Amino acid sequence: MSTLLIRNGTVVTLGEANKVIDDGALLIEDAGIKQVGKSVDFTGSYDKVIDATNKVVLPGFINAHMHFYSTMVRGLGKIEPAKDFVGVLNKLWWRLDKQLSLDDCYYSALIPLIDAVRKGTTTFIDHHASPSAVTGSLDRIASAVREVGLRASLCYELSDRDGPEIATEGIKENVDFIEKCNRKPDDYLKALFGLHASFTISDDTLKTAVEAAEGLDTGFHIHVAEAASDQEHSLKNFGKRVVERLNDAGVLGPKTIAGHCVHVNENELDLLKNTDTSVVHNPQSNINNAVGVADIIAMSNKGIRVGLGTDAMTVNMLEELRQALWIHHLAQKNPSVGFMESMNTLTVNNAKIANRYWDIGLGELREGYAADIILMEYYPPTPLNGNTFLGHLGFGLAEASVDTTIVGGKILMENRELRIGIDEDEVARESRNLAAKLWDRF
Ligand SMILES: [Zn+2]
Repeated sequence: MSTLLIRNGTVVTLGEANKVIDDGALLIEDAGIKQVGKSVDFTGSYDKVIDATNKVVLPGFINAHMHFYSTMVRGLGKIEPAKDFVGVLNKLWWRLDKQLSLDDCYYSALIPLIDAVRKGTTTFIDHHASPSAVTGSLDRIASAVREVGLRASLCYELSDRDGPEIATEGIKENVDFIEKCNRKPDDYLKALFGLHASFTISDDTLKTAVEAAEGLDTGFHIHVAEAASDQEHSLKNFGKRVVERLNDAGVLGPKTIAGHCVHVNENELDLLKNTDTSVVHNPQSNINNAVGVADIIAMSNKGIRVGLGTDAMTVNMLEELRQALWIHHLAQKNPSVGFMESMNTLTVNNAKIANRYWDIGLGELREGYAADIILMEYYPPTPLNGNTFLGHLGFGLAEASVDTTIVGGKILMENRELRIGIDEDEVARESRNLAAKLWDRF
């Protein structure tokens, strides 16, 4: 058994009880948290001791909606301007993902995973698409996750947009990966059944997918009413709204993630609540695609579990949190709304979402939970305690640097130096080579 003590830091547990422990310490035994308390309480000898003076000790952050595959779009210049969200999909994302090879999938994942170690994000719930390289794509991404040492739930985004053969392959890729994860439970890799969105999936394909998922003890990960056009399409083609259609098809449930939910009505919120479905808010992406603002205040009032994702805009969860804080002020023309609702997405609900898939305890510094821990260098200019912490998180820590990242008791970065055994320069070079070729095919 190996022991690691982190001491002399400001320990912030997060979770519903969120405790701020001044001069706090954390004892890690192997992959888990053994004890949380005051530094003076720890007097034994330990294999390693980290001095967290001037550091805030937090659980690693969780990103509840991500697309690793979007990495190679950075700087791509030959995109026609789009007038709306479906235009963005047609002119950019659906042209790009069609060209992705298995190697592109692997490097597209490796780059943000390495970056996430630096930014303190230790768990991802990813949504992947590569219609010309479906089979084996999740395995390639899984190997990147494993090499970097983070945790991820993966899925393949099924749709009908590339024809019936690719749709069948998409179903199989989801089922194969879920079965693999079920056969050999793994604390680092989990699986969901990916669906792109209502407007790209026919009733037949949806029915086949739901039947294929039966008995696999899984949920679905799908974009829901991200733009108003998803609702228009559903009403026109299926005679019901998106959430009603998904509910009728058997897609909703406690393990299902409904990304976005920007354009949902009261009845749809009730369906999400009654089925115990998680909603994931992605404010930066919604701003970028000009689709609107999800009303997470109404969702929270209903008791819906709303988490926070980045939709690949960043791997930095505190950057995303800040956008959540402002966007509701602007949407409701009221500078006093949405603070707790936004904060809770990241500090409480993302853990609740992740803990539906992981049974080792993520997102909170608590005895018996997984030792996924980050240290941020921070010199608070005002008192930092349980009453003031959220203000420090949004307005100070969000701009501070992550110094140390630990996942499952393993140190992946210490004093801002990566310890993942990967040559970052070489990975970036290979990614640039592949991206140049991808852009030629685009
Ligand atoms: Zn997305």
